[in-house]
Amino acid sequence: MSSGHGQKTTPVLLGRVNPTMMDNGMNTGQVFLVGAGPGHPGLITLRAVECLRRADVIIFDKLVSPLLLEHAPATARRICVTEFGECHTRRPEPVQQAMIEAARQGLCVVRLKGGDPFVFGRGGEEAQALREAGIPFEIVPGVTAAAGAAAFAGIPLTDRRLASAVALVTGHEKAETEGTMDWAALARFPGTLVIYMGIARLAKIVAALCEYGRRADTPAVVVQWATTGEQRTVEAPLAGLAEVARAAGLTSPAVIIIGDVVGLRHELAWFEKKPLFGKRVLVTRPCAQAAGLVGRLVELGAVPLLLPTVEIREPADWSPVDQALDRLQIYNWLVFTSANGVHAFLGRLRARGRDLRALGGTRLAAIGPKTADALRHYHLEPDLVPDTYQSEDLAAALKDLVQPGQRILLARADRGRELLREELSRIAQVEQVAVYSQVDAVEGRAEVLDAFGRGEIDYVLLTSSNIARSLAHRLDEACRRHIDGGRTRLVSISPVTSGALRSLGLPVAAEASEATEESLLEALLGLARQPTVS
Ligand code: SAH
Repeated sequence: MSSGHGQKTTPVLLGRVNPTMMDNGMNTGQVFLVGAGPGHPGLITLRAVECLRRADVIIFDKLVSPLLLEHAPATARRICVTEFGECHTRRPEPVQQAMIEAARQGLCVVRLKGGDPFVFGRGGEEAQALREAGIPFEIVPGVTAAAGAAAFAGIPLTDRRLASAVALVTGHEKAETEGTMDWAALARFPGTLVIYMGIARLAKIVAALCEYGRRADTPAVVVQWATTGEQRTVEAPLAGLAEVARAAGLTSPAVIIIGDVVGLRHELAWFEKKPLFGKRVLVTRPCAQAAGLVGRLVELGAVPLLLPTVEIREPADWSPVDQALDRLQIYNWLVFTSANGVHAFLGRLRARGRDLRALGGTRLAAIGPKTADALRHYHLEPDLVPDTYQSEDLAAALKDLVQPGQRILLARADRGRELLREELSRIAQVEQVAVYSQVDAVEGRAEVLDAFGRGEIDYVLLTSSNIARSLAHRLDEACRRHIDGGRTRLVSISPVTSGALRSLGLPVAAEASEATEESLLEALLGLARQPTVS
């Protein structure tokens, strides 16, 4: 009830979206109908990512890449449309109802749809349902499968020499309109045809087009899982396309592209030549730190899968850190062994109302380039980064610089190797504080472990001995058999991580020459160039 200026009562909102005041005086959330693109995690718009970042509820299509959901807050509710029943496409009402109900609770709802929401996506029907319910909505376009498949298979959909028009066609009509598609007109269509949802009826489609006069030797392709590391493309003259696709075992999701432009693929195909094309690579770092590796893997053509084995949390007790922060001036050296440590330490400094001036007289050491970059992020230049990036090397380099009796503060995780403290204690007064805590991840990710058990993972990247130990606990016998048999190969970031793996009975297939992500990827690429065990 409004009781005068400035005294409106605001209902408690569950969501964080700016609520919209409806005509009836109720606050409501909003629905974004968002295109997720064709599968490649980079082929999503900035606007879509903005929507995901503020989502309270995400209702996503089965085909949407799980990596995209990582843009959303951990607290957002994630619902796959299959939870509404397998035939949700025929019965869209439960999905529409769920969106409407969530929005009425004041929540920010993202309906994440494959490709573009208005191309064979039922986006129109969903938007109409929202309008009828009085729910505010926005449409965020996406890269549709035709555009994605064409680009990643090297086929310009139009080309002024070969095709001046393109038609997007469904091969799967609604039962009530079955038979209304004018295949005769499409056979005569003077341009490129892209057929969605047509793989199950490919033989019939091809027969109809040829019968109505499309040239039997028109170049044609089927592209399955376009834009992802699992993309498969088969090509044949139109008349033989169904047979070739069947023999190759191609199934949905796939698009069929028919037209003379397909011939350009021989010169323009680029994606399938990537060095890790089609390889499935498990990334075991905490999600928050996996983005860099995942991005590089996608660029190399791989299929990254996330299995975070450790999580980063606040330390159980800040008081030792706070005591150290209160007397920072007594330390001659402040030593960081991870980027996490830098962010946690400086975050706490700020939270206590202090700033960088508190570090004025203290020298800074970083174990490696990532940790050094984290310091530079705060405009701090490390005084020491050893040439190689292990505790042994950092200890040796520090020993040369530290005067006997000086004080050193080690800011690190609550678990890890004690080597640095032990070595430095020989010459200096060392204090060690846990600025963050590393715990074994409890998250299920059952589908990733299942894929591992079925022998579908080619490589596993391991970036620390803690991660190695945590992973080993989660591997069942089937997974171990694939590792022992050489089907799944482990790539380690350093001799210490390799040592931890071997002591857990896990063979190491390759090791990075430097403890950096780039070097880890180099080791992976070297391995991928070798012949594989079948
Ligand atoms: N709105 C989506 C289309 C949904 S209909 C879009 O704009 O792309 C689902 C069909 O899209 C699938 O049957 C398949 O024909 C096509 N499709 C979606 N993703 C695909 C992909 N990665 N590769 C090939 N075809 C894809």
